[in-house]
Amino acid sequence: MLKVLLYETREGRQSPAQWRRSTRSSEPVRWLLRGGEPSRSCWYAFRDRIAPYLEDWNRQVLAQAVAEGQTPAERGALDGTTIAADASRRRLLDEATLQRRGEELRRAKAAAPAAAERPGWMAPTPEGRRRQEERLGRTRERLDELQRRNAGKRSSKRKKRERIVVSPSDPEAALGRDKEGVFRPLYNVQIVDDLDSPLILAYEVFAQPNDAGLLGPMLARLREALGRPLRTLLADSAYAGGADLAAAAAAGATVYAPSPPATGGDRRQIPKGEFQWLSDEQAYRCPRGQRLTYVGASRQKRSSPETVSLQLYRCATEHCRACPLRSRCTPRSDQGRTISRSEHENLSEALQTRMATAEAKALYRLRGRTVELVNADWKTHRKLRRFAGRGLKSARCQVGVLVLSQNLLALLAAESNDDRAAAANHSEIAA
Ligand code: SF4
Repeated sequence: MLKVLLYETREGRQSPAQWRRSTRSSEPVRWLLRGGEPSRSCWYAFRDRIAPYLEDWNRQVLAQAVAEGQTPAERGALDGTTIAADASRRRLLDEATLQRRGEELRRAKAAAPAAAERPGWMAPTPEGRRRQEERLGRTRERLDELQRRNAGKRSSKRKKRERIVVSPSDPEAALGRDKEGVFRPLYNVQIVDDLDSPLILAYEVFAQPNDAGLLGPMLARLREALGRPLRTLLADSAYAGGADLAAAAAAGATVYAPSPPATGGDRRQIPKGEFQWLSDEQAYRCPRGQRLTYVGASRQKRSSPETVSLQLYRCATEHCRACPLRSRCTPRSDQGRTISRSEHENLSEALQTRMATAEAKALYRLRGRTVELVNADWKTHRKLRRFAGRGLKSARCQVGVLVLSQNLLALLAAESNDDRAAAANHSEIAA
């Protein structure tokens, strides 16, 4: 059954219902099953049963590839893509609707409503309504969690409480816009592709709609998969925030990524990039040559619940008042221009310096030829556009099977190439 599952996954059939159909219609599947015809529920149960073993199987494949010298597994490219959850994008519940439905279900439990009075969403039988009540409880828990997270965000990133919605079909899924701009329940699939072979070094599925803050968790996954840290990692600018770079430095990985675009601040103002950081003097120099010196520190919330420490540097008031650039540099402040420097800014500056070299630019071009192609292949040829099963565990299992099928093929292809090369070598020697 595992062979069938791997074969079907490579053929772009990701759901147990499709595997069941293939047991009758596909010659390769019938041959693999040797006459067996597992039922649909049997395929679902089998997929659930193998889920806990997938990580270990993938680790074994990687270890074998490294042992055979197919790859040093030291350089990877990271990328993420969103895949639709197995849930409706039209049926999303906010707090008020959840509460109303909970009350209606409680009333229906006390006295079953007549068919004409029953709302369209309510199950007709007591057993159906009991299951609905259970699902509603799980949905409520997830909504509470999302509201707690939202309350921890800084005010500019915080949503209004009534705008937070959750999917009752798959409460674990994140709500966000997919690549086509459609707001729907989805999961975020992250993979690290090897730069020196077709192997995938690490994968993970997250219930969040964007890539912010995922570099650290992916480096941890790499360490689990390889048993050691990765040396070089290519990523896009979404992974190059200060906290991400700090996580990479702690893990001993060198990141190559474009710097994230500047956010916040007044766009008409002279940007911070035009101020030079003087590391020896621990001060900034402004475009007019004046020094901005340290005046204090503060902590600022980021989009995640974590906070970042900021050091503040200010130019003396008398310089700014007399400056011809004042209207563009500090139009609304009589205190002199202030620049903030985060605790991770030295890492961001080191990244910018690294990315300016010709070697880094050549290395970074490999990203478009590796991990981005894998993502395109998964969506186009493996047809992974929507998960076939609900919940994070199920999504992780489907991605794990896909990674296993891809890595096994890469391993077998490399071994057969080695065999062919050895045979050719042997014939040359014999001749
Ligand atoms: S306004 Fe102040 S900080 Fe800005 S350029 Fe002039 S002197 Fe420098």
